[in-house]
Amino acid sequence: MEKLEQLRTIIQESNKIVFFTGAGVSTESGIPDFRSVDGLYNQKYDYPPETILSHTFFLRYPEEFFRFYRDKMIYEDAKPNAAHLFMAKMEKLGKSLGVVTQNIDGLHQAAGSQRVYELHGSIHRNYCVRCHKFHGLDAIKKAEGIPKCSCGGVIKPDVVLYEESLNEHTIYGAISAIEEADCLIVCGTSLSVYPASGFIRYFNGKHLVLLNLSATPYDDMANLVIHEKVGEVLGALAADYE
Ligand code: ZN
Repeated sequence: MEKLEQLRTIIQESNKIVFFTGAGVSTESGIPDFRSVDGLYNQKYDYPPETILSHTFFLRYPEEFFRFYRDKMIYEDAKPNAAHLFMAKMEKLGKSLGVVTQNIDGLHQAAGSQRVYELHGSIHRNYCVRCHKFHGLDAIKKAEGIPKCSCGGVIKPDVVLYEESLNEHTIYGAISAIEEADCLIVCGTSLSVYPASGFIRYFNGKHLVLLNLSATPYDDMANLVIHEKVGEVLGALAADYE
């Protein structure tokens, strides 16, 4: 594949790569995109996912929120795939400034990435809304109904819900990395989710690569567009760095 050779050359000559990842990278680890329509959905939930995963819904119907959350957002057995591993390796070799991700599953860290800007938070961090004590994923998983802290407060996942704003420190870190990058590789996202889609406007490096199964509104702007599975493409390049 000629495009694979082009990507190989771009990665070889880049030393400040930033990867920007979305749901497509996680689906290759068996984590479905919660936005995708599944046939059973309507039988189990009375509201669309965007409604259930909103701040208002969380406050008003926490029990139903956590039923959906445990069912659709937590995939604890998922393992990093070839894409996660390749990105971690690039960082270890000093060729990458890190990963900016829309995913909340923690698979980049599981693969060994150190600098991960999680725009939408993480299922692995949870806080009591009353005393702000930290709780791991088990506190959410093992609780019946609404997870509660020992102080009696509700434990809220550190995941950015609809109507909530992104964490400022995370935004700052992500933008700084993208501004400094000589190569931005966008993986597994159609760049349709606001405001994360706006982040690529901060890139002014040499190579913009879009790696996504379907076309994106930014395809015309990119130096290289590959409509293939992320894990297969990056996995094919991994041998170069062994
Ligand atoms: Zn508490």
